[in-house]
Amino acid sequence: MRGFRDVLRIDAAAGFIDAEGMVTYEDLARECLAHGVMPAVVPQLKTITLGGAVAGVGIEASSHRYGLVHETVQELEVLLGDGSIVVCTPENEYSDLFFGFPNSYGTLGYALRVKAKAVPVKPYVRLEHLGFDRPDSFFAQLESKLRSGDADFVDGTIFDAGRLFLTLGRFTDRAPYTSDYTFENIYYRSIAQKREDYLSAHDFIWRWDTDWFWCSKNLFAQHPLVRRLYGRERLGSRTYTKIMRWNSRVGASKWIERLAGLHSESVIQDVDIPLARAAEFFEFYAREIGIWPQWTCPVGPQPHAPRFALYPMKSDWYVNFGFWDVKRTREAHPPGHFNRLIEREVLELGGIKSLYSESFFPEEEFRREYGGDAYCKLKAKYDPQEAFPDLYAKCVLRH
Ligand SMILES: Cc1cc2nc3c(=O)[nH]c(=O)nc-3n(C[C@H](O)[C@H](O)[C@H](O)COP(=O)(O)OP(=O)(O)OC[C@H]3O[C@@H](n4cnc5c(N)ncnc54)[C@H](O)[C@@H]3O)c2cc1C
Repeated sequence: MRGFRDVLRIDAAAGFIDAEGMVTYEDLARECLAHGVMPAVVPQLKTITLGGAVAGVGIEASSHRYGLVHETVQELEVLLGDGSIVVCTPENEYSDLFFGFPNSYGTLGYALRVKAKAVPVKPYVRLEHLGFDRPDSFFAQLESKLRSGDADFVDGTIFDAGRLFLTLGRFTDRAPYTSDYTFENIYYRSIAQKREDYLSAHDFIWRWDTDWFWCSKNLFAQHPLVRRLYGRERLGSRTYTKIMRWNSRVGASKWIERLAGLHSESVIQDVDIPLARAAEFFEFYAREIGIWPQWTCPVGPQPHAPRFALYPMKSDWYVNFGFWDVKRTREAHPPGHFNRLIEREVLELGGIKSLYSESFFPEEEFRREYGGDAYCKLKAKYDPQEAFPDLYAKCVLRH
């Protein structure tokens, strides 16, 4: 698949891009910006591919307008396990695969080509950071900003239950200055320090990549000296991904934790909760999990949302909560203890969880929430010889 990484067509006037599945968003966004557009939703990490984001779940601060990445897709060309290729659209004979492909994680077929919505850009983005000291005022303001709908981008950064920031981004033709968060300055810290900021459209799109939101702290990259050692070029998700893969292979941090007498559980999750229940989820999260900072991102109602069989959502507002760190405790817990608490709460509140990291669902519960019979039918129709693994085996049992 690796060779399938070209951008085939950018039609700024008609508002779409057509590109091969393995093109990275870094390459895709570069080409789009040269044509005065961007993909409607660009996941925050440069290394994520277009096909990968459709096969999984991708989100960004434009999702309040356009939904998740797969909701911006107009056509998909899929390589099936028997080597045949089908072109799926919402209306044609393969519409079941079109709506079944998102969240299938390569268990039904591989996206060779994706046609998706593109939107016009302006040269700069003006950011407004609004601070709150109470979750209820944060969520009330978030809802009111969403209903007014005048910001191009909306996301939130929560430093703890008493320091919550809502960031509104608006395209603009002119900027009095632009900030640079690609080397010495760190974007997420600026949110609590500045009321207003300006970034070029390019730097806005990649504002979270340099420090992998804030996860670069685990790789010591936020220390000024270490940061210089990394150098501008190496600061970013590509480098951190390599280091994290090495760490999980050799188990370096597990070894240090054991020496310190700590038990740890990796809690790396993105969950989508209906807006009406978001404050309840937050209250649970602050009480039981408390990994800070936490990222929040609203997802706007999309007409087809309930039709995506493996990631069904209501056609309503949701809030995505993202939290990515290790929970360390002195006392021992069974494997997946904190992740399981989260899974139960998400289902209780009518939400849904992305499957890109670890999951602990019992099989029956998983099948009920992620497609059920619809997945079995898709699997029997498009991968009868089981060239690809089953979704539960791949995403929960992880083999
Ligand atoms: C560490 C990490 C950080 C993330 N951060 C973000 C984020 O900031 N924003 C965001 O929106 N999302 C994020 N995600 C979710 C991400 O968008 C999805 O996991 C997506 O599937 C990753 O795509 P990839 O191109 O990186 O694919 P990979 O990670 O290489 O593959 C992910 C899965 O998708 C399958 N796959 C890959 N390409 C295709 C294809 N062309 N067709 C069919 N199946 C395919 C693979 O078999 C694999 O199961 C993150 C995920 C991880 C693991």
